[in-house]
Formats: sequence, C-alpha cells, structure tokens
Amino acid sequence: MIQITNLHKSYKTGSNSLHVLKGINFSVKEGELVSIMGSSGSGKSTLLNILGMLDEADTGSYVLDGVTIKNLNEKQAARYRNKFLGFIFQSFNLISYKSALDNVALPLYYQGMARGERMDRAMAYLEKVGLADWSGHLPNQLSGGQKQRVAIARALASDPKVLLADEPTGALDTKTSYEVMDLIQQINDEGRTILVVTHENDIAHMTKRIVNLKDGLIIEDTPVQQVRALENV
Ligand code: ADP
Ligand code: MG
Repeated sequence: MIQITNLHKSYKTGSNSLHVLKGINFSVKEGELVSIMGSSGSGKSTLLNILGMLDEADTGSYVLDGVTIKNLNEKQAARYRNKFLGFIFQSFNLISYKSALDNVALPLYYQGMARGERMDRAMAYLEKVGLADWSGHLPNQLSGGQKQRVAIARALASDPKVLLADEPTGALDTKTSYEVMDLIQQINDEGRTILVVTHENDIAHMTKRIVNLKDGLIIEDTPVQQVRALENV
C-alpha cells in the first residue's frame, strides 16, 4: 500500500537548514495497523505529512497503492488525497460552525456527491462511531472523545485506502484515549490500513507494529502483540 525509499526532508529557515528525515525506508501492506513513535521533534509529523501528501520530500521515492507520488500539481494531489487518504489530527480540526453531520459530509461535498447521498453516507458513518444521536450538535457541544469520533467518521466517509492519524489521542484523557484506540482497532479489524503517530508507549502497543524514529532515521521497526484498548479501561 505504501512504499517509501530513501526519503530525505530538510526545512530551510533563512540561512539555516534542518535535516529532519535522513533516509527513511519503510513500507506498509494493506490492512496493517502501524504506529510511528519518537520523541517530540523527531520528525513524526513531517513523515506523516509526506505520506499524506500535505508536504513533499526533497529526495526519495513514495509509491502509494501503485501510484508514484511525484511532481503532482495541486489538483492531482487533491484528487489522490481524496481517493487514498483520510486524516485524523490531535486537535480534531472540525469546523466549529457546522454540525457533526455537516462536518462528516463536507469532504463528500468537495467530491461532488449529491446532497441526499452525502447526508445518508455521513449519517451512516456517524452511526458507525456511535454518534447518531449527536448529528445536529456543534463541535463545542461535544466532548473531546466525541469530537475525535466525528473526525474519524469524517476521515472514513470517503472510504480511503489509508487512515493517517497524527497523535489522535494527544488531547484526550487516558480512558477516552483508549476508547478512541478501540475504535481505531475496530476499523483496522475491518481491513483498513492505519498509521498512528504517537509518543505514548501504551498507545503504540495497541497497534500491531512499532516504527521508532530517532535523529531522522528509523532505529526500530518491529511487530508487537496487539493490546486491545478496552482491556485497559
Ligand atoms: P514531531 O512530530 O516528531 O514532534 P516534526 O516532524 O513536527 O516532529 O518536526 C521535526 C523537526 O522539524 C522539529 O525540529 C521541528 O521544529 C521542525 N519543523 C517542523 N515543521 C517545520 C517547518 N514547517 N519549518 C521549519 N521547521 C520545521
Ligand atoms: Mg508531531
């Protein structure tokens, strides 16, 4: 599903250059649930943003579901992003003046789906994350865990090949974090490929493989025995 080879990325600020990714090689098969670990500043988000086509590497190759991601114009990139990728962020990134239902339906609007169909689809995904009764609520009327569930429904609505989650539990208390990880595990059980960036060891062990980043390189990449999130609650 994902194959990256010798990926490098530097940030240039003024005359300074910060070499963040120093030759990353890694691949992910369909159906995997992988965590990307590393201390703050180790380049986790940089890597995830490149995988998510929100940013581009300086050198190296990236193949996503058989498509080489290179020199795409903004329109092509947006099309692939919609087709292949769903995003979940620490800060949820919901639109504050739109209801839960409208937040989930919005990506489908951008894809040109007719209103009736996109509302039905959005409702089905809200049901899936257990929030059917909250569809008319605004984000600030929802708890943190509920907001992240809405964001997960939104990410799933366009049926992406891969879900990319950047610290999805970073703003949540422990119990709520585990509930969100339970949902992520359920979605992976259905066969969806998921990458989770986290700096928390317990969260990483709820995935099936841990990739450890340090000083711009992968220093460890190992399968782990998955801990079911709700065993911890
Ligand atoms: P992590 O997600 O692991 O905390 P990041 O990938 O966000 O790390 O950042 C890696 C390093 O790159 C950090 O030192 C950060 O300050 C720097 N960095 C991240 N984004 C930018 C940017 N847009 N411009 C300049 N430096 C950046
Ligand atoms: Mg980060």
